[in-house]
Amino acid sequence: MIRTSGLTKRFGPVLAVDGLDLDVREGDVYGFLGANGSGKTTTVRMILGLVLATSGEVELLGQPMPRRARRVLPSVGTLVEGPAAYPHLSGRANLRLYDAMGGAAGRRDRRRRVDQALEVVGLQAAADRRVRGYSLGMRQRLGLASALLQRPRLLVLDEPTNGLDPQGIREMRELLLRLNAEGVTIFLSSHLLAEVEQLCTRVGVLDRGRLVVQAALADLQAPTGRTVLVTPDPAAAVGVLDGRVERRDGERLLVRAADPAALNAELVHAGVRVRELAPERRGLEDVVLESTSGLPGESS
Ligand code: ATP
Repeated sequence: MIRTSGLTKRFGPVLAVDGLDLDVREGDVYGFLGANGSGKTTTVRMILGLVLATSGEVELLGQPMPRRARRVLPSVGTLVEGPAAYPHLSGRANLRLYDAMGGAAGRRDRRRRVDQALEVVGLQAAADRRVRGYSLGMRQRLGLASALLQRPRLLVLDEPTNGLDPQGIREMRELLLRLNAEGVTIFLSSHLLAEVEQLCTRVGVLDRGRLVVQAALADLQAPTGRTVLVTPDPAAAVGVLDGRVERRDGERLLVRAADPAALNAELVHAGVRVRELAPERRGLEDVVLESTSGLPGESS
């Protein structure tokens, strides 16, 4: 759905994006993760043909960008600049305007398209109120509704939960998951690890303009080959597991052992009581910390 090769952008002396090879596949919820200033927005803008690359290539829905922008963009829903809307008009009136500007579909079905988009994002009840009175979450949902008007196969969203409260973030997440279940591929940029971890199937991590990780989230979170053991007999366990305990923290031991069942049998056989036993998994935070110069700012 999105492929880039060697995608690069320089702003004078600043190398904002450096040789990116992105691969977003049909059905993905792809999380494009990076600290503020790492180059996410510049990349998204190049993908959509809003900024010209210094070098490299972009393919969007199989078509070269920006050359085929006019043909491709009607099938892509975008939320890039934050939700722009006329505050003195209602949500519905704003969507009608968007729909008219989109131009790909005729006037005849406008009312139905607008109603459907309002329904998907749950804004029917507020549709005829002025946008001025909308909360940020409602504005964000209105932005998403405008991205959905043309029933896109692909959504490209730059920081879609920026500025939302926890409730708004949850609603946006549920909405995106529902759209994905209905077959929409989603590419979203974020600096929030937790958001990407809860929503995405594939992850790309950008560090100072370079793509340092690109993989399925499940692969990144694969077991580490170590087992976390909680036991009321830690000293006895250390004795039995001679040399295999990598870390001990009170009753919690980290043991070099890939198979918790075998470890359990060994401990029980030796008379060591076991309270908890589970394979250790890496979290996205570990992956990002290992592969970048720092953790994206969770609070910013
Ligand atoms: P944020 O989450 O803060 O928006 P980002 O990851 O989207 O960050 P970009 O906005 O793409 O990062 O910026 C990447 C780098 O390019 C930064 O160093 C930024 O200062 C620089 N940059 C972006 N746009 C321009 C521009 N128009 N002119 C000069 N430098 C720019």
